[in-house]
Amino acid sequence: MKAALKIPKSLDFQRLGLKVGLEIHQQLETSRKLFCECPPITVSHEELAKAPRIRRELRVAKSELGEIDVAAAFEVQRGRVFEYIAPPSASCLVELDEEPPHEMSREALVIGLAIALALHAKPVDEVHVMRKIVVDGSNTTGFQRTAIIAMNGYVDTSFGKVGIQTVTLEEDAARKIEEHDNVVVYALDRLGIPLVEISTAPDIHSPEQAKEVAETIGILMRLTGKVKRGLGTIRQDINLSISGSPKIEIKGVQRLELLPKVIANEARRLYGLLMIRDELRRRNVKPNDVMSQKPVDVTDLLRDCGSRIVRSALQRGERVYALKLPKFDGILGIELQEGRRFGTELADYVKQWTGLKGLIHSDELPAYGITEDYVQAIRDRLEMGNLDAFVIVIGPTNKVLRALDIVKERAAYAVIGIPKETRAANDDGTTRYMRPQPGAARMYPETDIPPIVVTDELLNEARKLVPPPPTEELTKLVNTYGLSRDLAKQILLSGYLRVFEDLAKECRSFSPSMIASVFTSVAGELRKLGIELSEIPDAVIREVILVADSMNLGKDGLVALLMEVGKRGVKIPEKVRELVEALGIKPLDLESVRKEVEEVINNHMNEIMARGERAFSFVMGKVMSRLRGRVDGKLVAKIVMEELSKIFKG
Ligand SMILES: [Zn+2]
Repeated sequence: MKAALKIPKSLDFQRLGLKVGLEIHQQLETSRKLFCECPPITVSHEELAKAPRIRRELRVAKSELGEIDVAAAFEVQRGRVFEYIAPPSASCLVELDEEPPHEMSREALVIGLAIALALHAKPVDEVHVMRKIVVDGSNTTGFQRTAIIAMNGYVDTSFGKVGIQTVTLEEDAARKIEEHDNVVVYALDRLGIPLVEISTAPDIHSPEQAKEVAETIGILMRLTGKVKRGLGTIRQDINLSISGSPKIEIKGVQRLELLPKVIANEARRLYGLLMIRDELRRRNVKPNDVMSQKPVDVTDLLRDCGSRIVRSALQRGERVYALKLPKFDGILGIELQEGRRFGTELADYVKQWTGLKGLIHSDELPAYGITEDYVQAIRDRLEMGNLDAFVIVIGPTNKVLRALDIVKERAAYAVIGIPKETRAANDDGTTRYMRPQPGAARMYPETDIPPIVVTDELLNEARKLVPPPPTEELTKLVNTYGLSRDLAKQILLSGYLRVFEDLAKECRSFSPSMIASVFTSVAGELRKLGIELSEIPDAVIREVILVADSMNLGKDGLVALLMEVGKRGVKIPEKVRELVEALGIKPLDLESVRKEVEEVINNHMNEIMARGERAFSFVMGKVMSRLRGRVDGKLVAKIVMEELSKIFKG
């Protein structure tokens, strides 16, 4: 692997001129959807399996100016078919676009206005619903209904004020279930759930500040008590640029922890692309040097190369084509993000535009069973010089030629600068190319819904929901319950503040910090096991904690019980006690705990005498390995202490 240039490990974002704006989308907790009477719920897999399915082809509406948007054109050429699952309990004719939208949910508007007021934004006089063109099939109508409800607010951060440009109320998109063989399957239950979208000004200048802004806004929204919680109910889009780069969009960061990493990685990629541009210019490469290259069929050269990828492709009757990239040697191997090179960028374009698996480039060869001899044979066929590079693409001829055209355009653009892209965030915090950025002409008025006047009555209702400033709530939690600032912040972000406060007052043996951990770190552990805390009803979570508390089960016992409840999908609090009995969980009385402790001490007397006063943790470890999950550790500690003091004092 050759790489001529290296991007420094740590970058000074200030000096790069990093500018970030966030678009935060939050689902609201309302009794119905934004434009119909359906409940805003997601249905189970079982219900989806039984629900009717409808197939539709993409409709691309021209804008008022008669232009077809570049993002729309991209989608059309992919030729995908969309299938919609319509569960009767969570969708109606409105979601299917067979019936006009109903009145906007007043409840959603009030919550949206409350969030806007909390962000010091000025509500509009009249709410005008607009149609925003959607090209990925995630809406049956081909557009999303969206309405600005307030403008020009701000949020305070420890780095300074960050402007809020708009607060918008909009309908959520359909839920993507799967994609295979050019068919994308969406469920209509999520379509139309009310969302509030908060767009900040590009006033954010570091990854850490972005995290703080997202956290503060997230807490503020949750403090209204009127927003949904759990994975996927809040989504962040990022707009980002550095000096000399265009504004890049990154879609759908669901986990807040990932936000700073995604921003740092994307800034790094942009910096790297500018370095590549400068290097190509230094080498005197002209865009037309790339555009004038012709793909060359090298199928015959690689027929016997022994590469498995090539062999299985040839068995399918596919072809292998190579394209020379003049003076690109070493460029394709430059690492822009961890594990992602400039070659990966080209491969993303191939994947997204043609559906092929990607490409192989000369900076990564020899590899994949293509040895040095075969590399040389390709170089000879392409009449390559020392500084030249090549890519090969494998697949059906028409797709391969299309792919290489796209590679040519992208590579030629590297000399000019950075393309305006919409990207997606990967789970590891890197980003990948999704599609070209849509142009500006994508909105037009929704004529089915008359403008809504924002009356004093609406504003007064909204004012009642405006929460106190997040910092105030944070201090209150720290002072009242002795939580660390970090844990207090996490509880506010979790959306379980009220449930937590009630339990903190009611529990006898569990400390507030311990109870708070259920909604933060324990929720994270459960997620790794495939259990979403947000899918367990609050009343059931409450009952589990109260039962574990009254039975002195300790944290381990509580977590084990919560896991069982989640796995079995328990929805009614009364079932918790039944489950406890069925599982044979019995509280240990003080006498039996003391007996266990005595037994451990008697069995290990020599070790205990050798350790002296330090024997405590030794004995604790032994006892807890027998009793874990059945009794509170604090209680055991007290008894161990008592029993040990008998030995050492006596
Ligand atoms: Zn409906």
